[in-house]
Amino acid sequence: MKQPFMPDIHSTHQVQPPFRFCPLCSGRLDKKQIKAQEPERLVCSQCSFVYYLDPKVAAGTVTLFEDRIVLVKRGISPGYGKWVIPGGFVDRGETLEEAAVRETLEETNLHVRINSLLNVYSYPGHTVIIAAYLAEVLAGVPAACDETLEVGLFPYKEIPWPELAFFSTRDALKEYGKRYLGSTL
Ligand SMILES: [Zn+2]
Repeated sequence: MKQPFMPDIHSTHQVQPPFRFCPLCSGRLDKKQIKAQEPERLVCSQCSFVYYLDPKVAAGTVTLFEDRIVLVKRGISPGYGKWVIPGGFVDRGETLEEAAVRETLEETNLHVRINSLLNVYSYPGHTVIIAAYLAEVLAGVPAACDETLEVGLFPYKEIPWPELAFFSTRDALKEYGKRYLGSTL
């Protein structure tokens, strides 16, 4: 018996997710070279709709609570059980800053205010672009919430570098250290 097509939910975050049908007319999607210098595109065989595979945009915060950095231990894949700065995907129509504040609250129970942009991170072959902000706590006590196993508070010198989930967390923390603590890590 033929097995039903059951994609891993994370496969949609691949550079080439296994999308097969047009979201407008359900026609078959074919790979086509539209412009010589650009990647092949998924083009509908019936209505010619081009399914552009855009990056995913995420936003997060380097938040300090009583002079310690707030990290969350991920309770979902990818990076299950590893530490990240609080953050997540930006909803369509939402600003980066709103998303960073919302995700920080959802994951740590801390109400924060954005102070400044640390940097924006992207990596070859990766689908996620992340904007990392420095934030300050307005209210709340750290508590593990949505999709997090634990909230950790780390002095900068005790950041668990080998146990960080993503390059963006590492790079945002290094940027914070360089800019505000004179770290040369
Ligand atoms: Zn179509």
